[in-house]
Amino acid sequence: MIFRRKFLKTLGISFLVFLSLPYKLLYSASKKILNPDLSDQQKDIMFNEGTERAFTSDLLKENRNGYYHCANCGAKLFASNSKFDSGTGWPSFSEALPGAFKTKIDYSFGMKRIEYHCANCGAHHGHVFDDGPSATGKRFCNNGLCLIFIPED
Ligand SMILES: [Zn+2]
Repeated sequence: MIFRRKFLKTLGISFLVFLSLPYKLLYSASKKILNPDLSDQQKDIMFNEGTERAFTSDLLKENRNGYYHCANCGAKLFASNSKFDSGTGWPSFSEALPGAFKTKIDYSFGMKRIEYHCANCGAHHGHVFDDGPSATGKRFCNNGLCLIFIPED
């Protein structure tokens, strides 16, 4: 009887510890948060597959020459000459730099979409579609909050 009570108590405690584990710790176990300055919204998009509201990104009107980097790890992801205005409300690119992303099939919201994430840190960035207007035929639909633009001098 004593053993059984101890066992239940241990079980109870470990369950409580599990419940009280901060969400951040749980999801950083598989992916790496490398930038301690990421906002909650950036973390939600990059590590919880969230999406920013359309037409909210300052990068939509960014037209300078330069490169778009991962907001988490700083990896170079897109060159400015691949950016185009898709009219969707998210920064869009016809191609990524070689090896910048890894893809996986995303079945959420009853759709089959190709999700891509930073090959270096695993952060989610967006989805890639086959309806792009340029020769590549691709449209990388990227959350602006996941990108940092660095202009070329
Ligand atoms: Zn990254």
